[in-house]
Amino acid sequence: MGRKRNPWSIGMLTLFPEMFPGPLGFSLAGRALDEKLWDLNIYDIRRFCEKSAEVDSSPFGGGNGMVMRADVIDRVLSTVTQDPNYAQLPVVYMTPRGTPLTQEKVKIFSQGDGAIILCGRYEGVDERAVAEWGMEEISVGDYVLSGGEPAAISFVDACVRLLPGVVGKEESLEDESFEEGLLEYPHYTRPRIWKHREVPEVLVSGHHKNVKSWRLAEAERITRARRPDLWDIYMSKQN
Ligand code: SAM
Repeated sequence: MGRKRNPWSIGMLTLFPEMFPGPLGFSLAGRALDEKLWDLNIYDIRRFCEKSAEVDSSPFGGGNGMVMRADVIDRVLSTVTQDPNYAQLPVVYMTPRGTPLTQEKVKIFSQGDGAIILCGRYEGVDERAVAEWGMEEISVGDYVLSGGEPAAISFVDACVRLLPGVVGKEESLEDESFEEGLLEYPHYTRPRIWKHREVPEVLVSGHHKNVKSWRLAEAERITRARRPDLWDIYMSKQN
């Protein structure tokens, strides 16, 4: 008999534990959490502060804002990784300075055992903690959030929906944006005419081959117009 695998696990390190599960407690991710298809443990960073100490301190070299202390983060991670379920998990630091999150990266994480995620606040985290724990730095986009929690929620949501059993047949993952290196084609549903706008004829023709060609052409048109970066990669793979 094979080893019984633990559910995909997330250890969330945050100064705002009340923000979890938050949106992750609803819809697909929430249902999957209830069904124990994945597991979420929240660690309140503040609880790992020594008496009267602060989680943050002013930056060496001066400047605005505060920095999360390396010794505090280290204490949380040392505790979390004592749990054998968490000991081998990658440690991710959500930061605008990180590698941009892609569907490819999401797939890799969803095929692993989970992650320990550090949500930053203030100006960020003392660099020595990031280095000491070999953290993978991930960004959810080229903009600055006030904290890592909303970024972590996006990251976990994207991973959870790829876990086996989370998305039902009716919500197929196959045709989605990025699957073939293209953005998705447009969708239509009833009514067939709405505010003088008609559903494209081909979609009601019942001709599956034509529908498929139309959708591909639309996906190509939209990708080319909106994301030249994706379009170039897609084109380079066509020959
Ligand atoms: N001083 C930082 C900088 O300029 O890169 C921004 C700090 S931001 C106000 C506070 C925290 O929010 C960061 O430590 C990080 O954890 C999180 N954060 C902000 N934007 C993010 C993004 N685009 N992706 C991931 N995390 C982000």
